[in-house]
Amino acid sequence: VTDWQGKHVTVAGLGVSGVPAAKALHGLGAKVTVVNDGDDARAREQAAELEALGVTVRLGDGDTLPDSTELIVTAPGWKPDKPLFAAADAAGVPVWGDVELAWRLRKPGAADWLAVTGTNGKTTTVQMLASILEAAGLRTAAVGNIGVSLLDAVLGDEEYDVLAVELSSYQLHWAPSLRAHSAAVLNLAPDHLDWHGSMEAYAKDKGRIYEGNRVACVYNTADKATEDLVREADVEEGCRAIGFTLGTPGPSQLGVVEGLLVDRAFVENRQKNAQELAEVADVKPAAPHNVANALAAAALARAYGVPANAVRDGLRNFTPDAHRIAHVADVDGVAYVDDSKATNTHATQASLAAYDSVVWIAGGLAKGATFDELVAGAAGRLRGAVLIGRDRALIREALARHAPEVPVVDLERTDTGAMLQAVQEARRLARPGDTVLLAPACASMDMFANYNKRGDAFAQAVRELGA
Ligand code: ADP
Repeated sequence: VTDWQGKHVTVAGLGVSGVPAAKALHGLGAKVTVVNDGDDARAREQAAELEALGVTVRLGDGDTLPDSTELIVTAPGWKPDKPLFAAADAAGVPVWGDVELAWRLRKPGAADWLAVTGTNGKTTTVQMLASILEAAGLRTAAVGNIGVSLLDAVLGDEEYDVLAVELSSYQLHWAPSLRAHSAAVLNLAPDHLDWHGSMEAYAKDKGRIYEGNRVACVYNTADKATEDLVREADVEEGCRAIGFTLGTPGPSQLGVVEGLLVDRAFVENRQKNAQELAEVADVKPAAPHNVANALAAAALARAYGVPANAVRDGLRNFTPDAHRIAHVADVDGVAYVDDSKATNTHATQASLAAYDSVVWIAGGLAKGATFDELVAGAAGRLRGAVLIGRDRALIREALARHAPEVPVVDLERTDTGAMLQAVQEARRLARPGDTVLLAPACASMDMFANYNKRGDAFAQAVRELGA
């Protein structure tokens, strides 16, 4: 679509993607109608803002397709089985997500996209990537599912050479024509299956990120499903598969040798030997899963042609976001670490694996997850466990099955003071040299507004211990 003048576009959903999309389309001359399920105070406020511009908004009715709709632009979270999409399908109306819209609206000759998806590690990897690209002197930004709108980056006045783009499985589902310069799938574990319908459908949506890649498809050698997705993808001629591994890299791989991140991806074409990129110690925190994230970022940057020393400088300059394995304090020889962002079992597995002796604070909303594999794998590292939140019985039962000798404190309260008590209980269980790790393996909304607030409550409780 190049001519938007008078085109009838329905934007599905207000909020962080819908409001900017409606404004952008209206600005291009389209006749925009926004439909939204909810009609709460926030929705009314956003509706009023759009109506003042001349956009039509229908609150409390997200399922009726407005007459004469020629295109739907949907919020990524809207489920494909919503009646609105069945109606669109029947009427032959195409559906785009926010990413598809941004992709189609990018200016000619605009920045290339280096895209990242995966069940865990997306935000961290995209930020590392942006830091590396910056260290190489490129004009770049970390955008997409990380709170910075792709649409703003694509339509704004600021010029970029290349964008580091985080994409969720939902966004990929609704982005059929996206073609990245290069892309990475970091890992694949069951998540959001209620939305996608099955693991297969989830993997298929993630795999869309590789479609039409021009230079490189980056995959995780430790996660065969990611390699399978590369094999299934239809890519441009000459596009190569590049693996990352925590071990010694084979041809066309990046990996780790004697404490160094090294690159053999370009052995065949450009260099005779493996090239040193950075030290493992340059990765913050240097937990194994995070070294994997750094290798994925390095692979994408190298695919874009960034020199080895920029990888090192970029990783050194990088500061991780809050609540991702953040060291809060040492109290009486015990380290207190906030990984509140570990909201699923796959993430928690990675952070538990980074410590030898852990008092684990966990629990919250399980989102249908099971905990047997997680607990069985971590049993040998657990000094104790403190359970909080609504679904804590699921974790308690898994502990009883797979780690019956590990002392467990089950906190029944879910009020705001519960975190302080959890930290006090954890302190009682810990010995000098241990780590008290908040890695809940669950969502936070039963007790907190979000994972940030949960992490803040943990840090506050630790400060009170030290006081
Ligand atoms: P995302 O954007 O995919 O949610 P983040 O970078 O915000 O990922 O990290 C979320 C959590 O996932 C972190 O707190 C950490 O516990 C865990 N994590 C990060 N990278 C990985 C990885 N490569 N494999 C497994 N877990 C990871």
